[in-house]
Amino acid sequence: MRKQTENFQAETKELLNLMVNSIYTNKEIFLRELVSNASDAIDKLRFRALTDTELLKDGSDFKITIATDKENKTLTICDNGIGMTFDEVNENIGTIAKSGSKAFIEKFKEAKENSEIDIIGQFGVGFYSAFMVADKITLLTKSPLSELTVLWSSNGDGSYNIEETENSDDLKRGTKIILHMKEDALDFLEDYKISSLIKKHSNSIKYPIFMGEKKLNDEKPLWKMDKKDITEEQYNEFYKHTFYDFEDPLLHFHFKVQGSLEYTALIYVPKRTPMDFYSRDYKRGLQLYSKNVFIMDKAEKLIPEYFSFMKGIVDTDNLSLNISREILQQNDELEKISKNIEKKITTELQKLIKEDREKYITLWEAFGRSIKFGVQDMYGIYKGKLKDLLIFKSSFEDKYVTLKEYVERMKEDQKEILYVSGENIEVLKSLPKMKVLKDKGLEVLYLTDRIDEFTIKALMEYDEKQFKSINASDFELDDEKTKEEKENLAKENKPLLERIKNLLGEKIAEVKLNNGLGSGAAGLSAKGEISLEMERTLSEIPGNENIKAEKILELNPNHPMFEKIKNSDDETLKDLIYILYNQSLMIEGFPMENPVEFADKVNKILSK
Ligand code: ADP
Ligand code: MG
Repeated sequence: MRKQTENFQAETKELLNLMVNSIYTNKEIFLRELVSNASDAIDKLRFRALTDTELLKDGSDFKITIATDKENKTLTICDNGIGMTFDEVNENIGTIAKSGSKAFIEKFKEAKENSEIDIIGQFGVGFYSAFMVADKITLLTKSPLSELTVLWSSNGDGSYNIEETENSDDLKRGTKIILHMKEDALDFLEDYKISSLIKKHSNSIKYPIFMGEKKLNDEKPLWKMDKKDITEEQYNEFYKHTFYDFEDPLLHFHFKVQGSLEYTALIYVPKRTPMDFYSRDYKRGLQLYSKNVFIMDKAEKLIPEYFSFMKGIVDTDNLSLNISREILQQNDELEKISKNIEKKITTELQKLIKEDREKYITLWEAFGRSIKFGVQDMYGIYKGKLKDLLIFKSSFEDKYVTLKEYVERMKEDQKEILYVSGENIEVLKSLPKMKVLKDKGLEVLYLTDRIDEFTIKALMEYDEKQFKSINASDFELDDEKTKEEKENLAKENKPLLERIKNLLGEKIAEVKLNNGLGSGAAGLSAKGEISLEMERTLSEIPGNENIKAEKILELNPNHPMFEKIKNSDDETLKDLIYILYNQSLMIEGFPMENPVEFADKVNKILSK
């Protein structure tokens, strides 16, 4: 039989140290942590027993028991769950590989300046939190997969002892944790204290928690309770320690569906974008329970990718119990549930857009990209479902609007949904064209996220209205008369425009006159599929650097600069065009070709 003394891993030591020396006043949360571990352990056993009933040979009367011993100053928490083998104890208790404590350590490091006070209580700090109240912990555990019991103990210093023993205790299966309480934590040995703590933090644990003969909890998981009996605070608390967030969620949906399809879902939207949300490490999915048995933690299938920011739990009695995780992948019942959840979420979100725009904007600013990616995904097959969840800022009142709102306000003779894209909304607002459009009473969407235009392109139309960039070369602002004037002007200046085009060569596709440029002397627009904004975005994605917009240099015929151009000799014209072109690049947010040469040319002209 093995017997060892091991050092804790560095990260664990750090956490332990924090706990041992904690001045945190709300130490009581250790009990919630140990009870939730006990409940998790029973969950695991029940799940594995679905395919291996042999594991239950020592009974299926699942329970958690708590015992106090004032004389020996110990508090004991015992469960008849899955227990741990020797190796598992080393793995699980010796290191912090686990979600809760790991997330805590990260948050703690991040938030040091705010002190530990704010986060310990809200986080699942896990097993080690017991060292806030105990100066020694003994853990006895028996796995149904091993003949031997494992005895683990530590004083919360740098090391722990671990040994295998014959089953000397009455522990047939499961884990018993004995806390040797610190002098200042002896009040946790009072029965009333324990029962009130269980009521407060662990009431909805779904296995009975006993102290002596007395049952301390109601055993009903939160999601199974009646909505009207659940307080906002209970919803929030449950969220924080189930999903390891230290902030209240933004909102929750609680669906209880009955009929041919039966399930309960409790779904949350976090307030902020998790750090790893847009990384490969992020795993989406909802927790899945069936007939109160925990089946899996992140059932991807239950939530579509564009709602991957949502966290939650689905509980259904419809699944047959001899399911394995593989079968879950092609389970019809789950498929139906997931479709139904998606539909319900979509409806709820649309309601939110109408009823609590502020809240939806918070969601949008944290996770809107996920929905926009959804529109573009799979050649746009989801766009029908998602189009009414999109919001964009608009020139109407500088507020977020839905496409529906936009279309409803459209002028009678307006055929297209107008947009302008660029990162800085202030710059967009000050575009000369914007003023012209405003005067005409036309609303323009500001597409300020670099993926917005791709989303719009994927959408193609809304309510049979196409989208049109006000920077597109074929965007017409004019009535017949001005159009004619323009055409004449273009005709008159044709030779000049051709000269300019030749000077710029391949850099641009065309030179045009545009009297809608307001006070600007020149500007850029694009024709074809790729807009200027798209070129800018694509240029940052490796491999796409060479995808270029077909650029059009637009000159303002009403600007004094235009007179100057007309009357210049070849050499001056060359310099002026160079300056105007580079200036326009700069205004559009592209790098200038050669800033030194640009400065030289400007100075040359200025000193003439
Ligand atoms: P977490 O619960 O977030 O995984 P903890 O620090 O609370 O983190 O627990 C660490 C690990 O120790 C658990 O993941 C589990 O593998 C194991 N463990 C803790 N308590 C028990 C228990 N009562 N029975 C079986 N395993 C346990
Ligand atoms: Mg835990």
